[in-house]
Amino acid sequence: MTDSDIFNQPYDILIAGGGNAALCAAITAARAGASVLVVEAAPKAMRGGNSRHTRNMRVAHDAGNDILTGPYPVDEYWDDLLRVTGGQTDEQLARLTLDRSKELWDWHQQQGVRFQPSLSGTLSLGRTNAFFLGGGKALLNALYLTAAALGVQVIYEAKVTDLNITEGVFHSAQVQKEGEVFPITAASFVAAAGGFEANIEWLSEYWGEAAQNFLIRGTPYNRGEVLRLLLNKQVQAIGDPKQCHAVAIDGRAPKFDGGIVTRLDCVPFGIVVNKHAERFYDEGEDFWPKRYAIWGRLVAMQPEQVAYAIIDARSVDLFMPSVYPPEQANTIEELAKKFTLDPQRLRTTVEAFNAACRPGTFDHTVHDECHTEGATPPKSHWARPIITPPFYGYPLRPGITFTYLGVKIDAEARIIMHDNKPSPNMFAAGEIMAGNVLGKGYLAGIGMTIGSIFGRIAGQGAAQAKHRPE
Ligand SMILES: Cc1cc2nc3c(=O)[nH]c(=O)nc-3n(C[C@H](O)[C@H](O)[C@H](O)COP(=O)(O)OP(=O)(O)OC[C@H]3O[C@@H](n4cnc5c(N)ncnc54)[C@H](O)[C@@H]3O)c2cc1C
Repeated sequence: MTDSDIFNQPYDILIAGGGNAALCAAITAARAGASVLVVEAAPKAMRGGNSRHTRNMRVAHDAGNDILTGPYPVDEYWDDLLRVTGGQTDEQLARLTLDRSKELWDWHQQQGVRFQPSLSGTLSLGRTNAFFLGGGKALLNALYLTAAALGVQVIYEAKVTDLNITEGVFHSAQVQKEGEVFPITAASFVAAAGGFEANIEWLSEYWGEAAQNFLIRGTPYNRGEVLRLLLNKQVQAIGDPKQCHAVAIDGRAPKFDGGIVTRLDCVPFGIVVNKHAERFYDEGEDFWPKRYAIWGRLVAMQPEQVAYAIIDARSVDLFMPSVYPPEQANTIEELAKKFTLDPQRLRTTVEAFNAACRPGTFDHTVHDECHTEGATPPKSHWARPIITPPFYGYPLRPGITFTYLGVKIDAEARIIMHDNKPSPNMFAAGEIMAGNVLGKGYLAGIGMTIGSIFGRIAGQGAAQAKHRPE
């Protein structure tokens, strides 16, 4: 069948996007008997958006198994979420996500996805996070295979460029493929087209010039086009446009799509300074899985959006090896020169930090007693003097993973309109609505949980919506 043949058929459901959330929706809807068309902006080789970069998904469970160590009760998950978001979450939607995360283990396996134990050093997530065997690409291949077997049609390099919506009801979409525009009508619509993190111009509206220095960890295709269309058509927005999942990544990473290997996990083991060789945040505030996703924003707020992580020989083997080797030097001054930092200022900062470190037993697996006294900012845990050469350093840049400004939804994944009413036939899942749950902060693995839960709910709702009288 040619693409025009596929476009010219009637569908119950049109899904914008081709990542995890879209496929969870497509499979669920197809299993409920609906005909489904998925339009994915990327070419086939790059299908799957940010989901293809992922490794794991955070799931609640009452008992460990041969892959997940120990139980992870919903209450503990909820406490973790409350801590990282500072309570900025929609409690109903968040609790629903966490409660139903228990189902994902079985559900994903039924779609052909396989799991594996976490690799050592992967942010200590063996108890809480289910790792996809083969990573995000293997997960997506399994989901695409299952979707195809269920009759779901997929068109690549096809972008939703306009939506025809009146009074909260979806009628049709314009889909652009190879310069041609196809009108697609469907009884319901699922928006699963990611955030706007790859749209530097849009990020600049909130971050100004600083956005030019951001690196985008994932797909260049998440430009927020569908989000923008919806927000322009009486859909309620949710979330602070400046909040996002942003990690401090290696400053030498490519502008787009560098993926997981550009992340650096060394921050809790040393200090981080800005271009003035000054520390600016507590590097040992909490365990890295709970705090790593704030560091991108912290670096984004520094002059020229650059920072440097400095460690010594005692710490160099404590975290996942980095893809780019660190700069190395026998003295702090020599290291400073490699980063064009003022050598004397960096020496002063390191010495002040070293003097503030209190003696204690270092243990990176617990909130240990190694902290500073009298340093500004403090370092709460894992504070050890940086004195053992060679010294190592990594340049850091803000690595934007995904944005939190999105569309407001209800517990049925229905998109909420300006009049506070849910649309009868428009649904959203994944990054495009993650801001309902994540007002700020991030918990490793919850992105895929949100997308999977609301993808399934959206797919179910969209399949039922087709039976609703006009
Ligand atoms: C490097 C990296 C590692 C990550 N690791 C993890 C992890 O281990 N665990 C975790 O939970 N989360 C992780 N995340 C976050 C996770 O990727 C997201 O939360 C999740 O993938 C979002 O899924 P989604 O389906 O909403 O979006 P995506 O998977 O990004 O899919 C969106 C899709 O929409 C398409 N699209 C965009 N615009 C249009 C348009 N106009 N028309 C049609 N299609 C369009 C894009 O091409 C894309 O395929 C990671 C992200 C990155 C970048």
